[in-house]
Amino acid sequence: MTELNLSHLTLPTPERRVYCNRTLNLRSIRAIGFDMDYTLIHYKSAEWELQAYAHMQRRLAQKGWPVEHLAFDSELVSLGIILDIEHGNLVKANRFGFVKKAVHGTRVMGFDEVRALYAQEIIDLSESRWVFIHTLFGLSEACMYAQAVDLIDEGRLAPALGYRELYPQIRASLDEAHMEGQLKAHVIAEPERYVELDPELPLALLDLKHAGKRLMLITNSEWHYANAMMAYAFDAFLPGEMTWRDLFDLTIVRSMKPGFFTGTFPFLELVDEEREHLVIAQNQLKLGGVYVGGNAPAVERFLGLSGEQILYVGDHIYADVHVSKDLMRWRTALVLRDLEQEIVSLTAFADAQVTLDALMEEKELLEHRFSVARLTLQRIEKGYGPELATPPSARDLRDTMQQLRARLVELDAEVEPLVRAATTLVHPLWGLLLRAGNDKSHLARQIERSADVYMSRVSNLLSQTPFVYLRAPRGSLPHDPITTAHAAPDTHVDGWC
Ligand SMILES: [Mg+2]
Repeated sequence: MTELNLSHLTLPTPERRVYCNRTLNLRSIRAIGFDMDYTLIHYKSAEWELQAYAHMQRRLAQKGWPVEHLAFDSELVSLGIILDIEHGNLVKANRFGFVKKAVHGTRVMGFDEVRALYAQEIIDLSESRWVFIHTLFGLSEACMYAQAVDLIDEGRLAPALGYRELYPQIRASLDEAHMEGQLKAHVIAEPERYVELDPELPLALLDLKHAGKRLMLITNSEWHYANAMMAYAFDAFLPGEMTWRDLFDLTIVRSMKPGFFTGTFPFLELVDEEREHLVIAQNQLKLGGVYVGGNAPAVERFLGLSGEQILYVGDHIYADVHVSKDLMRWRTALVLRDLEQEIVSLTAFADAQVTLDALMEEKELLEHRFSVARLTLQRIEKGYGPELATPPSARDLRDTMQQLRARLVELDAEVEPLVRAATTLVHPLWGLLLRAGNDKSHLARQIERSADVYMSRVSNLLSQTPFVYLRAPRGSLPHDPITTAHAAPDTHVDGWC
């Protein structure tokens, strides 16, 4: 066999791979729908956050709130955290919904304080008390909420204003639709300032299209914005005269997700793109058409496909991925740009993690020896239990326990800085997005439940090819025989347990 040079599509680095929760054979996928904002188009988000925060600050100052001295603090907030508006706290929870870390206002709560407040609580996001932060504007909102809780505690806001009443006022001050409209006008005027181009993306979509898959753009953005963004991100990287429009069999704007997946909105056809003239789409949808609104069941009928033949790719865990999976049984892919930084940090920490695992293994062994010595002493002192051939003296047992305790104290001192480093990777306060201490985070569990695959960007599909069979790894269970490095048992340092 001739050895071909196929090095132009090498295996990607870990942060650019596609990760699989549920096995997905891309060959059996016949159509792929893409969300646009933060899925096909990635923004330089710091600029947006600052502008959204400044906008809120102005609006609240106009209402007489003492907020002029405040500033957006990215170290206070992170995606995946949850507001507890009952108590004025920001919290991070593990996959079971137990709170593992909390901040009251801007003050970090201690381990005992967190335990006292939350030991009996399990977060249920369907309750109005909890607000999950999974969007960009959510970060500015969460930051302002925490800072305003401080103002309440300092008695600087109206006395009748409680933590719960505070939240809707903060939310209203953002006036998201207005804010988004303003920002989008800036982005259209100066896309190079706000949009991060990905030259690999158009080729990844071309590969999928020419492999026979129908491609669809399904975005909540309006036509004039979507058209400008897609042209900026795609057209210069496509061959010849081809434009982004030639990639997609169907373009759906103002799709009103999650309503697109849950409702029965009609399709309006965009018949005059310049003047954005719409008519109700009476009959069959047309290939290459642009529509407003619409609904997923009608898309399935148009394509003649069923849910498991359609893949939807989006960045919003609820509106893109959870609903399309839950109601339509479409296959789902989540785009999570922060995954790149997460994986780079974990890779850099890998050697330290090996050391930490070894120390925790030793700690577990010594703790077991200590417990056995203690039980043996108890049986000797109480005069029960099986007879030992050479019973140790109570004094020897106490000496052994003392030595073990001393070594355990030493071990804790070695473990502590490593655990602290592990739990502050990427974000100094909240740590890794997908971890809560040693466990999976609440966000990680949502991804596991709803996203068949996840990746940092859509162009990660390029090196996987349109023909990849993505296999889920064998799920691990606590009782699995240990074949590699020992997993570290739970540990806690300052609130992480
Ligand atoms: Mg999006």
